[in-house]
Amino acid sequence: MDRKEKYIVVAFGGNAFQTKGERGTPENYWKNAYKSAEFLVKILEEGYKVAITHGNGPQVGIIAEWMLAGKKLKNLDVMTLDIAGAMSQGWLGYLIQQSLYNKLKEKGLLNNGKIKGVVTIVTQTIVEKDDPAFQNPTKYIGPWYDEEEAKKLAEEFGWTVKPDPRGGWRRVVPSPDPKGHVEIEAIKRLLDEGFIVIASGGGGIPVYFDDKGWLHGVEAVIDKDLAGERLATAIGAGTFMILTDVEKVYLNYGTPQQKPIDVMTVSEAEKYYKEGHFKPGSMGPKVLAAIRFIKNGGKQAIIAHLSQAYEALKGKAGTRIIPDQ
Ligand code: ADP
Ligand code: MG
Repeated sequence: MDRKEKYIVVAFGGNAFQTKGERGTPENYWKNAYKSAEFLVKILEEGYKVAITHGNGPQVGIIAEWMLAGKKLKNLDVMTLDIAGAMSQGWLGYLIQQSLYNKLKEKGLLNNGKIKGVVTIVTQTIVEKDDPAFQNPTKYIGPWYDEEEAKKLAEEFGWTVKPDPRGGWRRVVPSPDPKGHVEIEAIKRLLDEGFIVIASGGGGIPVYFDDKGWLHGVEAVIDKDLAGERLATAIGAGTFMILTDVEKVYLNYGTPQQKPIDVMTVSEAEKYYKEGHFKPGSMGPKVLAAIRFIKNGGKQAIIAHLSQAYEALKGKAGTRIIPDQ
């Protein structure tokens, strides 16, 4: 497939909005959003067309807490996880829309004939109804409970709850493999027209098609990096960039033998992946998404620290995953 060098999909990690140990006040969210916008503006100044995606784990957890508190205190009704996902897309999409708009304005980059605006798409991600993940929910979400309360909530809302290896009981949901996005045509056209598009937030709202071809939401979460790859591949982006809170991908991470990787071919990445260098649920899906992106025809995948996005794009920071040479 033909690749567009100037099209990039950027995936923001949790640190783009809330950093570890910091309170989740609106002030902190704005401060972090502006910082993230500033890192992106350097790339946008060079004429790249950018689609942005982002994680939503902490935000969906917070929404769950709010809803349960509202239920306890005021008997307010609790929304399903797909609706909570949609809420998080609006929450974080708004922060990015406004901070990026203001940064672009400051730099004189808006309405100069190239960048027309920043827009968030409430995005539905298609999963398969018979994905094996539905038989085996693995992803811990939301608050921690004691066993008794967890079982009561499971009964009331039809949840699956399990003891968390880190202690306490939590809700677990399936994490099915993303196949594509319902709104992909709209996303492509907006990008072509010069809009910066925020899409597939939190991996997108998981939906499936029924026999009539109608869409329905499901109670699941989708990995944002794997969904980001589907987006990057579908728009024909040359580069897929995953921005997180480590500078590089490492071999033997967290051991005295830890070694940073500057560049790896897709075959090397697959070998290291199979050897278990990348932890499930954090670096694992990022490297898997990078591998898929290259195998689907992408030119380069980059995994880097958020603050080094521009340097990483220039090959001066981060880890690059490239086709076999
Ligand atoms: P994000 O919110 O950006 O998706 P994650 O916490 O999911 O962040 O993933 C980034 C984390 O992956 C790093 O903070 C690091 O602790 C962890 N990690 C696991 N294995 C590796 C590895 N091999 N190299 C680098 N980081 C790793
Ligand atoms: Mg993550």
